[in-house]
Amino acid sequence: MADRTIFERIIDGALPATIVLETERAAAFLDANPLAPGHTLVVPREPYERLRDAPAEVSSSLFEAVRTLAPAVEDAVDADATTIGLNDGTAAGQEVPHLHVHIIPRFEGDGGGSIHTAMGSRPDLSDEEMIDIGDRIAAHIE
Ligand code: AMP
Repeated sequence: MADRTIFERIIDGALPATIVLETERAAAFLDANPLAPGHTLVVPREPYERLRDAPAEVSSSLFEAVRTLAPAVEDAVDADATTIGLNDGTAAGQEVPHLHVHIIPRFEGDGGGSIHTAMGSRPDLSDEEMIDIGDRIAAHIE
């Protein structure tokens, strides 16, 4: 089918990839354009686009696979640490519309930054604004 995502086609075996884990609901393979040796993508088998689209059992399985893989990836490439990230939506940099978690091995002095460096600046929020935002988040929890 033409409208399957790249990652569905990888899981189906229609596209080549170095697959490192397959579970009932998730799969993981090496990123084709790695930011570091061992850069791994963890995806749900079903093509939910955003984290908010995935039912609880799918997101649980996804993050269980992340928990399994993060130390395995780190140890396999003898890394010092790991950055785990999820570009959730196009404005956040998501290019493939199939939910995926990046596991990126990190090395002392590799020149990369923390997640904080993904943002160019920080907003200057008052205490009242922080409380209001917190209240609104709590009110939106379903
Ligand atoms: P994102 O910007 O979060 O959507 O990241 C998408 C990631 O998918 C990028 O890091 C790409 O390098 C990776 N990617 C794209 N096509 C493939 C592919 N065929 N096999 C493995 N990784 C891929």
